[in-house]
Amino acid sequence: MGSVLIDNIGSLVTNDPALGEGALGLVADAALVLADGRVAWAGPRSKVPEGAARDRFDAGGRAVIPGFVDSHAHLVFAGDRTAEFEARMSGRPYTAGGIRTTVAATREATDDALRANVRRLVAEALRSGTTTIECKSGYGLTVGDEARSLRLAAEHTDEVTYLGAHVVPPEYAGDPDAYVDLVRGPMLDACAPYAKWIDVFCDRGAFDGDQTRAILAEGKRRGLVPRVHAGQLQPGPGVAIAVELGAASADHVTHLSDSDVEALASGDTVATLLPGAEFSTRSTYPDARRLIDAGATVALAADCNPGSSYTTNIPFCVALAVRDMNLTPAEAVWAATLGGARALRRTDIGHLAPGARADIVLLNAPSHVHLSYRPGVPLIARVWKNGELVVT
Ligand SMILES: [Zn+2]
Repeated sequence: MGSVLIDNIGSLVTNDPALGEGALGLVADAALVLADGRVAWAGPRSKVPEGAARDRFDAGGRAVIPGFVDSHAHLVFAGDRTAEFEARMSGRPYTAGGIRTTVAATREATDDALRANVRRLVAEALRSGTTTIECKSGYGLTVGDEARSLRLAAEHTDEVTYLGAHVVPPEYAGDPDAYVDLVRGPMLDACAPYAKWIDVFCDRGAFDGDQTRAILAEGKRRGLVPRVHAGQLQPGPGVAIAVELGAASADHVTHLSDSDVEALASGDTVATLLPGAEFSTRSTYPDARRLIDAGATVALAADCNPGSSYTTNIPFCVALAVRDMNLTPAEAVWAATLGGARALRRTDIGHLAPGARADIVLLNAPSHVHLSYRPGVPLIARVWKNGELVVT
């Protein structure tokens, strides 16, 4: 793999305070050297090492940021829920039951149809600057269909999450605890080889605290690391369980108690905000300001799924986070890059210090602030992944 100098960068977000100003490690009038899929050098143009790279790319004074790290997505599904969205926008409240519609369609679908859907959404995300995307199962809900979902997800990303505990499928409606036993027993046996993470939807209409703890504890015993859908629809024990079990992330956190905020601020569990879900369900946004001010680590993800947030677009989520959750433009960009990396416990992505993976986004804008200042405008000019130019 060759080396390339990205020169004449008007504003470079490194997310390394040792390299530049503030938490974003901002460098004005900057350059980056990529070699062998990694960042080899980052800093002011005036200090680029002599003969640093074979090829030169002129950024034309535009901004460069790390590729987005989307740590929460549900991409293995079939079917369409346009009608449900349209009904909800006409006044019907969202409940988790809509997931069952997608489960029925997913079970019917062929491997190729599911694979094509994942590929389409990963490509869509990449075009809007997402260079790492997590992917969950959760629309199969049988041993075979969950294992199949994870196998297909693993073809497209290393960040694969077993979410057999998404909802209780209709065939177990009369005996949800029997389904919990399946999820933490034979289904876990079949799924663990494909997954790195285990997740539970701990909420109204899904799984309660005891069920969540039992499933995550068993997953952990089998080497999977917990992450939790916590407090999306109502206050509950999800955040407390996530912190107690050392989960990498508590996601949604729309309804938070004082002790939840304290637990997130003092522990290692990242609070992952998914404003696309509140936007698409006309719900109240989480109190992100309170989390950040308390000292919690915050990530921003798109929660792409066919029911409650059918978007892969992180710039849109950045704009929502700034406009509706009172993050500063810098905090929102940090949360969508290094915050996402923290939520996936990755140290090689989400920043552009030497040694980082060369996952890089060139914006058609002079600074990262434009991601929220110019909402809805396609500002992603180029994307490099592992040092390869993949979006032009
Ligand atoms: Zn989700």
